[in-house]
Amino acid sequence: MSVLSEAEQAFLDGPVEQLCAMIDDWDITHRRLDLPPEIWEFQKQNRFFGMIIPQRYGGLEFSANGHSSVVTKISSRSISAGVTVMVPNSLGPAELLLHYGSEAQKDYYLPRLADGREIPCFALTGPDAGSDAGAIPDSGVVCMGRHEGRQVLGLRLNWEKRYITLGPVATVLGLAFKVFDPDGLLGGEEELGITCALIPAETTGISIGNRHFPLNSAFQNGPNSGKDVFIPMDFIIGDQANIGNGWRMLVESLSVGRGISLPALGVAAGKSCARNTGAYAYLRKQFNTSIGKFEGVEEALASIGGMTYMMEAGRQLTLSALDNGEKPSIITAILKCYNTEHMRQVINHAMDVHGGRGICMGPSNYLARAYQSIPVAITVEGANILTRSMIIFGQGAIRCHPYLVSEMEAATMPESAAADIAFDQALRGHAEYFLTNYCRAFIYGISASHLAPSPYPGRIGDYYRRLGQMSAAFAVCADLVLMILGGSFKRKEKLSGRFADALAYMFYASAALKKFEADGQPRTDLPLLEWTAKYCLYQVQMALGEILRNFPIKWLGVIIRHSIFPLGLSLRLPNDSLGHRVASLLIRPGAARDRLTDGIYITDDPDDITGCLEDALPKVIRAEPIERRLRHEQLQQHGLEDYSQWVARLKTDAQVSCDEADILLQAREATMKVVRVDDFTPQQLLNEAAETVKSTPPSSAVRAKSVGKKIAAKKAVKKKSVSKKSVSKKSVKKKAVVKKSATPG
Ligand SMILES: Cc1cc2nc3c(=O)[nH]c(=O)nc-3n(C[C@H](O)[C@H](O)[C@H](O)COP(=O)(O)OP(=O)(O)OC[C@H]3O[C@@H](n4cnc5c(N)ncnc54)[C@H](O)[C@@H]3O)c2cc1C
Repeated sequence: MSVLSEAEQAFLDGPVEQLCAMIDDWDITHRRLDLPPEIWEFQKQNRFFGMIIPQRYGGLEFSANGHSSVVTKISSRSISAGVTVMVPNSLGPAELLLHYGSEAQKDYYLPRLADGREIPCFALTGPDAGSDAGAIPDSGVVCMGRHEGRQVLGLRLNWEKRYITLGPVATVLGLAFKVFDPDGLLGGEEELGITCALIPAETTGISIGNRHFPLNSAFQNGPNSGKDVFIPMDFIIGDQANIGNGWRMLVESLSVGRGISLPALGVAAGKSCARNTGAYAYLRKQFNTSIGKFEGVEEALASIGGMTYMMEAGRQLTLSALDNGEKPSIITAILKCYNTEHMRQVINHAMDVHGGRGICMGPSNYLARAYQSIPVAITVEGANILTRSMIIFGQGAIRCHPYLVSEMEAATMPESAAADIAFDQALRGHAEYFLTNYCRAFIYGISASHLAPSPYPGRIGDYYRRLGQMSAAFAVCADLVLMILGGSFKRKEKLSGRFADALAYMFYASAALKKFEADGQPRTDLPLLEWTAKYCLYQVQMALGEILRNFPIKWLGVIIRHSIFPLGLSLRLPNDSLGHRVASLLIRPGAARDRLTDGIYITDDPDDITGCLEDALPKVIRAEPIERRLRHEQLQQHGLEDYSQWVARLKTDAQVSCDEADILLQAREATMKVVRVDDFTPQQLLNEAAETVKSTPPSSAVRAKSVGKKIAAKKAVKKKSVSKKSVSKKSVKKKAVVKKSATPG
């Protein structure tokens, strides 16, 4: 598994930790509807927007793992702040420039993007083209036009985009559009295809600055449009030679970025829910018992724990592949789709466990904004329904199949002896492959996977064996369905979606086994691994079962079902006792809980939104033996005052020592902070939404300001003079950073 470098770890422990301490999500999402100026400035100064940019251009040059870890930690504090950092580092101008930009473009833009002088966005989606992004109607017509006082060859652009993250504050727009050359100025075809360009936001003809309001998230997002905007050819990423290459560029970049940013949001949600909900379930007592000990709540906690382990395992395995230079587009699509889907599930469980505490919004609610943001993560970078039912298996199957591609290639070769040989070879290989899988699936099935190979003995070995069985069964089903349906398979999205499920859960089960091994097989993590493995294997089995029940040829489906699952669909979900063991890990401090939630922001500041949980948990655990001894006493449940009087009486009666009285009081005080919910006067409620922090800033904003000042002072001392390399005026127009809205920075 990929390991963080020293510089990445130092960044996480330093600037990221500082940034998280500065964040007050309620201030951001309710009062200000933007990040405070101090945070914008802090992010720019510390190059949060340049994580993927090489150091020679002034960026941080982080690995995929480093980048994802930063996004995870920030998002555990605020989704709005996480998304703001995510976008410039994800699919967008920097990523495209790095791979496809001209040297002049890189030299000019990358240093400016790294230090936040330029704020980028990338605009592909429009009112008429969402999931079907290839259908964008936005156009660029090749023509002559005036640029910097001279007549040059360029493009006249017209576009209408929406949902563009960072769009309202962007100083440079990455834009996708289709190029047309009706007058034949380039001497080729009229329609030249999707093309990407970088355009300074203040270019004449561009309208930008309005905002959407995506489910109370405060990251900047909005529409933009352009009317007869003229750009010279060298605004095209990679210059004129890259006309028509835009779609390939986007798809290639997406196959990496999709595995980093949004899956990290899922992991951040999982880890935060696991840690905070576990603690809350211990601290919140009803019927004189921690609610986390009731079986109903345990079920929810077990799912949170297991799914978090699963998402993190998937994240780690994918990042290792990316950091090894792979571009596993199907795996990254799986990770995006299923991590965000499980994000939905863990947050829903967390909301249920918190009851009213999760519902009543205010500065001390650490769940509600994440809950609201779920559909954002699910929709962007390929909405999940489409990704699941069309992309993962539909597009992945052929690409990953060991023989289909060669069969298709051979079939389209001009008729010749070589073509016949190539086709026969591919067909023979395919037939052998199918028969081997069929036999494996039958033997593994009839032996309840005991005859499948495994690198380990015992219970862990069983999971490897079951995975072998499921993978053989999957291969049989997939091959048959593709053979039967051929080209019409792409319309069978329900089948394709179930194949995607099977593939995804096999991936997660493998990732969990790999993670357990990479972590050194810690015994305390065994319940998490087992829960994940059982849950995933069950999902694979059920997906395959549903495929066979809906097989394109019904009778064949029945035969295959009896051949590959001769003992029936015998796998079960994690049982109650395993669920109990997982839930127990979450509600009390321990090594497994720490490992599971490693990488999120954690503080034990009792006045912090989640710090109060960290503060209270050990205090309450310390007070328990004393409370148990006093069980016969009438415990005072009402308010701190009543409780204090009760403790004072016990002290007077010599039933508790002074130290014990302190322990009881501290625990009580800390618990009350945890269960407290916010309330507002009707007037406050009316005013709060309209307030823009013009009068008294909230205490955290004051904190943020002082941190910002300290950092600015430090920077002033260290200020280096940065030589500004200007690129040829002809190629890239220099721009001052101009804000288009009331945005700081
Ligand atoms: C907050 C936010 C930020 C965004 N940021 C950016 C950005 O920075 N830049 C940018 O260019 N875009 C951005 N987007 C756009 C995002 O990528 C699109 O919203 C997404 O591609 C889906 O398009 P749509 O919303 O128009 O939904 P539609 O395309 O209308 O789809 C609606 C539903 O139909 C499903 N669907 C569509 N076609 C199929 C199919 N063939 N099979 C099965 N299901 C299908 C989808 O999965 C979805 O569930 C952002 C969107 C949001 C909401």
